[in-house]
Amino acid sequence: MISELIKVQTGSHSEFNDITGKIESFINKHSFKEGLCHIYIPHTTCGVTINENADPDVKKDMLMELGKLVPLSDGYRHMEGNSAAHIKSSLMGFSLSVPVLDGHLLLGTWQGIYLCEFDGPRNRTVRVSFRI
Ligand code: ZN
Repeated sequence: MISELIKVQTGSHSEFNDITGKIESFINKHSFKEGLCHIYIPHTTCGVTINENADPDVKKDMLMELGKLVPLSDGYRHMEGNSAAHIKSSLMGFSLSVPVLDGHLLLGTWQGIYLCEFDGPRNRTVRVSFRI
């Protein structure tokens, strides 16, 4: 298995950062043709998900509704003050697997891979691995 850390600089407190191109670059760099690409987030206040990459309002709607589900302050006990980020990250999840064929991610036509930032802006890392 080949594995690398990819750097992502997020630009705001909460955002869906499209990392599809960075994942594809990892696959192209190693000339991977067929297998499984695993994407893992080694953080506790950002996650990863797949969603629509055509209409940017989908990202805004996701953030708006996650904000309603998990308010920034709600009497949380965690002293660091970022419980909402921890909870939203767990809701999104910390890993994905995407099949690769002919050197390309087998994403649907309207799908993109997003790092979900909930406690930014920060320098983040994404662990990307490939298994034949
Ligand atoms: Zn915390």
